[in-house]
Amino acid sequence: MKFETLLIHGGATSDPYTKAVNIPIYQTSTYRQSELYQPVEYEYSRTKNPTRNAVETLIAQLEGGKAGFAFSSGMAAISTVLSLFEQGDIILISDNLYGGTYRVLEKVFHRFGIQYIVVDTTEVANIEKAIHPDVKAIFVESPTNPLLAISDLKAISELARKHGVLHIVDNTFMTPYFQKPLELGADVVLHSGTKYLGGHSDLIAGLVVVKDDTLAQRVSFLQNAMGAVLGPMDSFLLVRGIKTLGLRMERHQENTLKLVSYLQEMEEIKKLYHPSLLSFKNHLIGVNQSSGFVPLVSFSLDERVNLPLFFKQLKVITLGESLGGVESLICHPASMTHASYPKEMREQVGITDNLIRLSVGIEHVDDIYHDLLQAIEVASK
Ligand code: PLP
Repeated sequence: MKFETLLIHGGATSDPYTKAVNIPIYQTSTYRQSELYQPVEYEYSRTKNPTRNAVETLIAQLEGGKAGFAFSSGMAAISTVLSLFEQGDIILISDNLYGGTYRVLEKVFHRFGIQYIVVDTTEVANIEKAIHPDVKAIFVESPTNPLLAISDLKAISELARKHGVLHIVDNTFMTPYFQKPLELGADVVLHSGTKYLGGHSDLIAGLVVVKDDTLAQRVSFLQNAMGAVLGPMDSFLLVRGIKTLGLRMERHQENTLKLVSYLQEMEEIKKLYHPSLLSFKNHLIGVNQSSGFVPLVSFSLDERVNLPLFFKQLKVITLGESLGGVESLICHPASMTHASYPKEMREQVGITDNLIRLSVGIEHVDDIYHDLLQAIEVASK
């Protein structure tokens, strides 16, 4: 099946009992067992639930992996994967990962003896230099949140294989519609399903897909043991969202590319971050490893623009955390998504106080653009 067809017909999307076209919401915690000592497929919903199973098989097919797992949030998915590691292990991480990923490593896993080293993963040589025997994984986002920096996923996978460490990719920003890290050699793919996969800002979910059976067994054990599973209602919503992923991503991308070209012309925009720009670092690597461009754009505004007034003035674009919904969402990473980074670290990687991240929705692009224009105009006076 072609990818667009798989989005709709992949996984267990129809009900084996009633033949309902859509997978029903199996809102049950447990299942009747007819006999003692007879193993059954479904025994308790933390372990397995048919609606959750539908989204898990679907995402495994979409990412081209061996098995998929659904969690109650992206952070639950990330925390479960980080629980694969042990005291003394070190994880190399990209230097502008989602703030929550950094926070859970710094404030939680660090206490259990799992360490991290922050690396600029846009240069493979930096990673190679940082690898030593205690390094057990390389965890990257490409593009990163919020600076959209591109790392060479294939080269990092090769390096990871050479040193016998896991390559973990948070593919939230691209989705398998634009980028398939497992095909590029990664071992584990993670998602905040809250974003483009769900697509409507109406659920919180996380997904993990692994490449081989051994990893599948280990993650399956942890999913059940730690228990941060996705509920049936949200599993249903996630399957429903994924059906239109292709259409939405195309429109998100079209709007983003138009906006990037408009924003390039605006004198109030001091720095513009988007991997479609020819001058953007690793532009060609991004083009080669993905089939589309990330539908977010980050920019910094001239100091003369009053930031609180700018945000307050927006009418079509919503100021809020998150991204990937049909509606345009804007945020101020330094005080919102990346507030958990120490200020020096934020500044060192370029998450300045005037940086803005825009998740470009699927509204008419002119309305998004005019909203930005009028807000900048009022806030510049
Ligand atoms: N990964 C990325 C790239 C994110 O942007 C986010 C949330 O913004 C997460 C993971 C965490 O996902 P969730 O909010 O679903 O826990």
